Amino acid sequence: MPSSESFDGARSALWMQTAVAAPSTSPLSEAITADVTIIGAGFTGLNAALELVAQGLTVCVLEASWLGFGASGRSGGQVNVGLNLDPADLIAKFGEDAGVRLVKAVSSTPTTVFDRIKQLGLQCDPVQNGWVQSAATQSVLDWQLELARDFARYGCELQVLDRGQASAAIGSNKYLGGLFSPTAGTLQPLSYTRELARVAIERGVRLHTESAVTHLERADSWKVHTAQGVVSCEKVLVCTNGYTDSQAVPGLEKKVVPLRSVLAATEPLSADLRAQILPGEVSFVDKRRLILYMRYDRDGRLCCGDHGPMRDEFTNTDYDAMKKRVIEIFPMLRDTRWDYHWGGRIAFTKDSLPFLTEIEPGLVAAMGYNGRGVGMGTVLGVEAGRFVAGLDKDKLAFPVSSPKAFAMHRWHKPGVNMSIKWYALRDHLESVRT
Ligand SMILES: Cc1cc2nc3c(=O)[nH]c(=O)nc-3n(C[C@H](O)[C@H](O)[C@H](O)COP(=O)(O)OP(=O)(O)OC[C@H]3O[C@@H](n4cnc5c(N)ncnc54)[C@H](O)[C@@H]3O)c2cc1C
Repeated sequence: MPSSESFDGARSALWMQTAVAAPSTSPLSEAITADVTIIGAGFTGLNAALELVAQGLTVCVLEASWLGFGASGRSGGQVNVGLNLDPADLIAKFGEDAGVRLVKAVSSTPTTVFDRIKQLGLQCDPVQNGWVQSAATQSVLDWQLELARDFARYGCELQVLDRGQASAAIGSNKYLGGLFSPTAGTLQPLSYTRELARVAIERGVRLHTESAVTHLERADSWKVHTAQGVVSCEKVLVCTNGYTDSQAVPGLEKKVVPLRSVLAATEPLSADLRAQILPGEVSFVDKRRLILYMRYDRDGRLCCGDHGPMRDEFTNTDYDAMKKRVIEIFPMLRDTRWDYHWGGRIAFTKDSLPFLTEIEPGLVAAMGYNGRGVGMGTVLGVEAGRFVAGLDKDKLAFPVSSPKAFAMHRWHKPGVNMSIKWYALRDHLESVRT
């Protein structure tokens, strides 16, 4: 546990200790030209960059901080089916053609990510052991049954687990059942980020860290300004997700609300404990209004995540409620040491869907993963690259939309705090009833 009162949620991440080396990068310090400038070097921006160079375009990626500073370097690293929404709702929203294309992309998200890791030769500890989502209440189990039925229509296998099967997969008999997604898995998120960057640089992308975009200017071309340099380009793609502020593209920040999630990792667990807790080394989500999520890392540390406080600096006590929840499920962890604590921002959107949007001609944004951005950030990054490269909208797996802004966005912190309390109360009442 960090000794200071409060600490940065990025540098303290377990991933900093076990990641592959980062490629060498430096700030932008001159005036350059490129076909496309990408703002933000996380999963979305880097996958878009790779797609754009593959289409023969010149690309500059500008990252405000270091590689992996955003959610991509802090993530839980679970690679799940891309969205937590029913296919029928997606088709109702986007229409039959675009909706079905999206459902198929969502269904195959984990396979897309793991195939991409192999094709690009990325060293990021991929594990494809599947994912279990538990159901603590009958209403969640009913919803899971319907979800599995609907996804099956599009070739996506989600198995419904009864009480005994869920208990065997999770190592706890607290649940009525659950869902199992066999293609899902985990990766080391900071390594994935650094490796995407390495390959992008090898393929000709100019990547500059410590290069926050201060403002954009539209003349004959776009001019993307940083403190010490400028990129002149035809198109700009904004991939800043939960770290979007009002600076680079004023107004865009109102389309996402940055919630916080905290993660902590135990000491490496003994073989005995590992045989009891998530014995197939599946990743796990305890499905409630306020979810709890878990996975092992390559050294057998159990990494557990929960909702966090609405600030970017964390304190030791921010993890107490999560640890209590973990120990309620796995009492055998009562005496286990917690070695790492970190957290970061998750971008929520008004309709709970990520978006690919054209703000004005040549200015595109892709973000808003609602906590599912490892898989979906990869898929949407590639799709955003295709869109920026000029591919017909009707051929994209992800629809181009006009996301709504949150009304009273500047009051989002008290609003989120109230919602969290309300959800926690409802979760508690339901758990008392079951
Ligand atoms: C604690 C935590 C746990 C998570 N766990 C999971 C999980 O298990 N599975 C899952 O699917 N998803 C998970 N997520 C979500 C997932 O990590 C994100 O959705 C994903 O990383 C988003 O990637 P991104 O590239 O869009 O954004 P980010 O990785 O956040 O990158 C955005 C980047 O933009 C940069 N930036 C911002 N403004 C500027 C500017 N003006 N100029 C230049 N650069 C700028 C930021 O510095 C940042 O690095 C988790 C997120 C968090 C925080």
